[in-house]
Amino acid sequence: MTNRNTGSDTEKPAVWIDANIHATEVTGTNVALNLAQTLLEGYGSDVQATRLLDQSVYYIVPRLNPDGAALALAERPRFVRSGVRPYPWQDKAEGLHEEDIDGDGRILQMRIQDPNGDWKVSELDPRLMQKRKPHEQGGVYYRLYPEGHLLDFDGFTIKVAPKPEGLDFNRNFPFEWRVEGEQHGAGPYPASEPEIRAVVDFIAHHPNINIAITYHTFSRVILRCYSTKPDDEMETADLWVYKKIGEIGAQLTGYRCVSTYHDFKYHPKEVTTGAFDDWIYDHLGAFAFTIELWDLPDAAGIKERKFIDWFRDHPHEDDLAILKFVDQHGGADAYVPWYPFDHPQLGKVELGGWNRMYTWSNPPEDLLQAEVERNIPFALALGDLLPHLAINELQAQSLGDGKYHLELRVENTGFLPTYTSVQGKNRKAPRPVRVELELSEGVTILDGRRKFELGHLEGRSNKLDVATIWVDDDTDNRARTEWTLRGYPGAVVAVHVLSDRAGSLHKQIELP
Ligand SMILES: [Zn+2]
Repeated sequence: MTNRNTGSDTEKPAVWIDANIHATEVTGTNVALNLAQTLLEGYGSDVQATRLLDQSVYYIVPRLNPDGAALALAERPRFVRSGVRPYPWQDKAEGLHEEDIDGDGRILQMRIQDPNGDWKVSELDPRLMQKRKPHEQGGVYYRLYPEGHLLDFDGFTIKVAPKPEGLDFNRNFPFEWRVEGEQHGAGPYPASEPEIRAVVDFIAHHPNINIAITYHTFSRVILRCYSTKPDDEMETADLWVYKKIGEIGAQLTGYRCVSTYHDFKYHPKEVTTGAFDDWIYDHLGAFAFTIELWDLPDAAGIKERKFIDWFRDHPHEDDLAILKFVDQHGGADAYVPWYPFDHPQLGKVELGGWNRMYTWSNPPEDLLQAEVERNIPFALALGDLLPHLAINELQAQSLGDGKYHLELRVENTGFLPTYTSVQGKNRKAPRPVRVELELSEGVTILDGRRKFELGHLEGRSNKLDVATIWVDDDTDNRARTEWTLRGYPGAVVAVHVLSDRAGSLHKQIELP
């Protein structure tokens, strides 16, 4: 999305937005669409929307994984992580496969009474299940499973089977991609999946992208790089900028901003690789964020929880608080009281519990709009951080005798530099700013070059210090260059100022 009357998209700095790479995480689609609508409707009346579309471009992919999302939203849904093709094997493994077995459009939980079960009916609310204490004996206990069918059931052992569609698209990006034996679901080779190949191709051919957001659910957190290593192994200047942008995000969304490595690892000793955000930052030097939208515990008043650890251990009172919140806001279908069901393989079981898709994975419908809207200001603010080239002055002066002095002054008026990040510069991802002259016939250069590198221009991101005692406001965002030409009055000289990340400018001047 851009205003094409002010230039083509590829000659403007860009923000990348995508959503719903994971099949069930459909909330992000709504944020992406709402952002597009806000920009479109605001153009011409809202100052920010107009500025952003005139000067920059938003590449928006509202549903990166349409096949997976279609399954999750089907009348009889199925939940896959990402891709819908079988991977890594073509056949289904034996064991329990999650499925809507009673055809009511919901995938819930199954509970089966068993003296060696690990669960019991909650003391706080009979609808809830509570963990049996390690030393607890003599009660009525249950086993809990996802709702589903068994393949090749032996009548005694029940094991939840790995999903036949085992791909995780967010492990399929080129950054530190790993094989199946090291990381499950990353695909046979980097960018092997058509959805990811399309994204990787597009982004590789659009060096104007400076900042990216990928929308996921859930946790109400803005994740920044790296996933694979601690902050002190990141370029220090980049870390400061990353944190500053994250701070803006935290203020505007009310979410927290953390490093994936430090605060969002699924296992304390394991990292994930091949993720979108690490690829964008590490290889291309653009600042990327993974935003985990929505969080049921947070919405229910359980604040500042440890994102991952909470699932391993938390007070049972938290579960009650969440259930009460869902009773008020979730609608009748959000938490389903247990009801008997004749399972074709397991006999008498009960179905019930969380309707996960519209409670945990995504907000209940009544809360969706508010969750979407709180994310729009940050997505817009990112457009106001982009580097922007501007021609401050282009002047031609006659020196007499057919000689002319031509002077060009350019500036980066944006916050980010024309190389986006130190990492980008190290990777040589963005080309430095270049200048090219195009001369009318009969005009020649006496001094200066027709085509040369102006180098990179800083923005304001290298000036984050807030103390005023050692101020030295460097004009390192400016550059100036001059030529001596031989020509004649009325001859036209075209000046092209070209950059990968900060837009390109074309201006003509007539010799006096
Ligand atoms: Zn996700």
